[in-house]
Amino acid sequence: MYTFGIDIGSTTSKCVVLKDGTEIVSSSLFVGGIGTKSPFLAREEALKKAGITDKDISGTAATGYGRNRTEDADFNVSELSCHALGAHFIFPRVRTIIDIGGQDAKVISLSGDGKMRDFLMNDKCAAGTGRFLDVMAAILQVPVNEMEGMAQKAQKISQISSTCTVFAESEVISQLANGVEMPDLIAGICDSVAGRVASLAKRITIVPEVCMSGGVARNGGVRLAMERYLGTEIRFSEQAQLFGAIGAALYAFQKS
Ligand code: ADP
Repeated sequence: MYTFGIDIGSTTSKCVVLKDGTEIVSSSLFVGGIGTKSPFLAREEALKKAGITDKDISGTAATGYGRNRTEDADFNVSELSCHALGAHFIFPRVRTIIDIGGQDAKVISLSGDGKMRDFLMNDKCAAGTGRFLDVMAAILQVPVNEMEGMAQKAQKISQISSTCTVFAESEVISQLANGVEMPDLIAGICDSVAGRVASLAKRITIVPEVCMSGGVARNGGVRLAMERYLGTEIRFSEQAQLFGAIGAALYAFQKS
């Protein structure tokens, strides 16, 4: 039996095809979220990669910011529940999830059996989200997927003191003008995001194992800084950005 999970985010659309609730058969990821063609394209690609059609799918669940805007889903499920399900599927011992997406950050606490116990969220301020990294990447003309490599070359983390994204933008430009090296600046930008989300995380009891989910988890600069701030190892999977879609496909399996 195949079930389908679609995560329509603010920046990116993610899909997963799951077989019998146990095996990820295919996945897809298209930049472009709610209001774009990406959810449709992501769905088409995931089905094609799995070698199946709509008719083979027993149930579809949608999650993410745009989950209410799709007619293709049988179920709409919150991102919190889906990230909890997806993270528990990949890391069965995980108890704390730090999810940083394109426009918000969430810290989710799980019980030993993978049920959500508690959560905290920042959806009010761009600092501490992927948006902050995207804005800075655009100013520096460095693709977000190259920030990790650049941050690794830093000699010294250049602190960004502004807490507001707009002021931080001016600060980054002035640091550049003052000759701060690009790797040091990028390490500072990653550090700033990690520091903000770590402050949120510290308001909840952080029980190991801890993992990161969402697109920003793919940035090793942020992961390393997060480990430093929290003083604990962070589990990482190449599929971190897909956890919501994996969770949605699992939910559809449980309900079908
Ligand atoms: P949403 O669900 O809100 O669309 P995602 O969880 O998909 O958000 O995360 C999107 C964010 O992930 C982007 O804002 C970007 O900063 C970051 N991101 C995406 N791909 C990469 C990558 N290859 N390396 C580092 N960061 C990435």
